[in-house]
Amino acid sequence: MSDGSIFTRILKGEIPGEVVFEGERLFVLRDVNPQAALHLLIIPKREYADVVELAADDPALLSEVVALAQQLADTHSDGHFRLIFNIGANSGQTVPHLHAHVLSGDLKEANLV
Ligand code: 5GP
Repeated sequence: MSDGSIFTRILKGEIPGEVVFEGERLFVLRDVNPQAALHLLIIPKREYADVVELAADDPALLSEVVALAQQLADTHSDGHFRLIFNIGANSGQTVPHLHAHVLSGDLKEANLV
């Protein structure tokens, strides 16, 4: 068994999870505890701790994350979405492997994540 994050271990098939998309540098999981009709996690294969680290190291990959979020919302929902990054435990980050929450559905009244 590898010692990667829980998300990496799902990608490798070591533990169960729904991989919605796998690209060269990013993959997408369906969140196990969805907070909206569509709740996906966009995750770089490289285990950045958070989006601040990613933005400093590879802004082009951060742009890919944003573009992929739009594609996912277009494909799986109505094209409207929230893109949420939790940074640090006190913000609610529970998995220290960067992930962007893509939430879509009717979110106008929702208080999410
Ligand atoms: P955070 O609170 O760190 O921003 O978000 C972590 C997210 O990962 C949560 O929304 C949580 O539901 C999701 N999550 C935690 N463990 C698993 C898992 O084993 N499988 C999947 N698909 N999602 C998970």
